[in-house]
Amino acid sequence: MASKTEDTILTIGFIDQLRAIVGHANLVTDADELLVYECDAYTLEKFLPTVVALPRTTEEVAAIVKLCAAHAVPFIPRGAGTSLSGTVLAVGGGVMIALTRMNKILSVDYRNRRALVEAGCVNAWVTNEVKSRGLLYAPDPSSQPACTIGGNVATNSGGPHTLKHGVTTNHVLGFEMVLPDGEVVWLGATPDGGEDVEGLDLRGVVIGSEGMFGIVTRVLVRLVRAPQTFKTMLGVFETVEAASQTVSDIIGAGMIPGALEMMDQLIIQALEAAYHFGFPLNAGAVLIVELDGLAAGLEAQAQRVIGICQRNGAREVRVAKTDQERADLWKCRKRAFGAIGRLSPNFLTQDGVVPRSKLPVIMQFIRACSEKYGLRIPNVFHAGDGNIHPLVLYDERDADQVRRALAAGHDILEKCVELGGSVTGEHGIGVEKMDFMAKQFSKDDLEAMQMVRRVFDPAARCNPHKMFPGSKRCGDFAPKKQVAA
Ligand SMILES: Cc1cc2nc3c(=O)[nH]c(=O)nc-3n(C[C@H](O)[C@H](O)[C@H](O)COP(=O)(O)OP(=O)(O)OC[C@H]3O[C@@H](n4cnc5c(N)ncnc54)[C@H](O)[C@@H]3O)c2cc1C
Repeated sequence: MASKTEDTILTIGFIDQLRAIVGHANLVTDADELLVYECDAYTLEKFLPTVVALPRTTEEVAAIVKLCAAHAVPFIPRGAGTSLSGTVLAVGGGVMIALTRMNKILSVDYRNRRALVEAGCVNAWVTNEVKSRGLLYAPDPSSQPACTIGGNVATNSGGPHTLKHGVTTNHVLGFEMVLPDGEVVWLGATPDGGEDVEGLDLRGVVIGSEGMFGIVTRVLVRLVRAPQTFKTMLGVFETVEAASQTVSDIIGAGMIPGALEMMDQLIIQALEAAYHFGFPLNAGAVLIVELDGLAAGLEAQAQRVIGICQRNGAREVRVAKTDQERADLWKCRKRAFGAIGRLSPNFLTQDGVVPRSKLPVIMQFIRACSEKYGLRIPNVFHAGDGNIHPLVLYDERDADQVRRALAAGHDILEKCVELGGSVTGEHGIGVEKMDFMAKQFSKDDLEAMQMVRRVFDPAARCNPHKMFPGSKRCGDFAPKKQVAA
């Protein structure tokens, strides 16, 4: 038995109406092609959308959403599908609306340092466009060569340089959005206005709402001046604990580096095999510490950082001597998840947060989990934010490994909460962490969140079955029927 959603989409000429809106070339109905959209980078759960539409204008997005509203059909906004928590999973089917063909940089206002981009614009393209003028778009998720600005808005993305420069909400001034009834609104600062907006900050409410409040179509982003100078250092440590203590000590000394990232031995070995950077294979952990700002004073800060590393027993501290060396180091860090393919067919990325001072405790706990469940768990993470990313390695063809990977991930997140942290730093809740919401929030908190959601989407049809405990899961629905060509 197909779901009611699929019956509706498949039997009332719905597909023909969708085709009339976006055109034949912008509609995916073929079962093989739909496979591309069956999951995001959280591959433990999968569900095929009934159909995927690839609109090219806000008007097309609004027309699709209105059609869905008229037939009570759920729809799922999608960017590049790099989410790591199943936020873009089409649980139970529905119309997936992929923004990837709305990917233009519409205008750059150099005088006021801002750019207007379509929601499907890839994050890295913004900085590429403006860097010759000494500017950049600061939020830099490691997925930035692929992920979209719309997806960043929905998940309030961070990145290695979040520590000093802030996350998406600090750099998005306003945006156009199609509400779940098809109405088009603009929230926050407008392209031709100032930055201050009176009234409630609805822009801020939507950022981080995981695609449940509507579809963002155009985004006005802030551009910042690129730092004059960088000092990028690689501290090499015998143990993860020593590197963790160094993180606490650097911040405790009153310095805020542009980035403070940690990688443990297993990930160093995978990266070295893939990119041959010259990482020491027998180091327990390495820390990337990047200072940025005005040249004056940066050297003195760098010496203080080196001193702190040495006091924590660093074997050596290498300082990048050229822009190329710095770029190579960041390339390795940002491609770390990709290098995992050398270690395992599958991995489950966790995204917990702990107070920085608890990093040694959580790292020891992760090691204990690895032993308990018999699975390797490399770590590469935003140490300065206390935002850990243990990567639980498993093989999805082995049901017992899947079970153990889930259990290990679960234990680690529980420990983060116990240590006073949280179950997500930047990847969102999605389908992955729905059950944890009840551990972190009271019933009243959760109901308040649902009430806000109902203001935007009373029928809960925009990206349904996410975030809230008790939502349906993929297994609650029969597998999808195929659309007739
Ligand atoms: C290798 C790798 C590294 C990563 N590193 C980081 C990192 O450093 N920091 C970080 O924060 N994240 C990171 N991520 C996670 C992910 O890249 C981010 O969450 C990113 O913002 C998702 O963007 P996307 O375009 O792929 O969105 P998708 O994955 O397609 O969607 C994510 C969510 O956004 C919603 N959405 C997408 N587009 C829109 C839109 N136009 N309007 C409304 N809702 C929309 C979807 O419904 C879904 O809820 C990483 C992922 C990978 C695979």
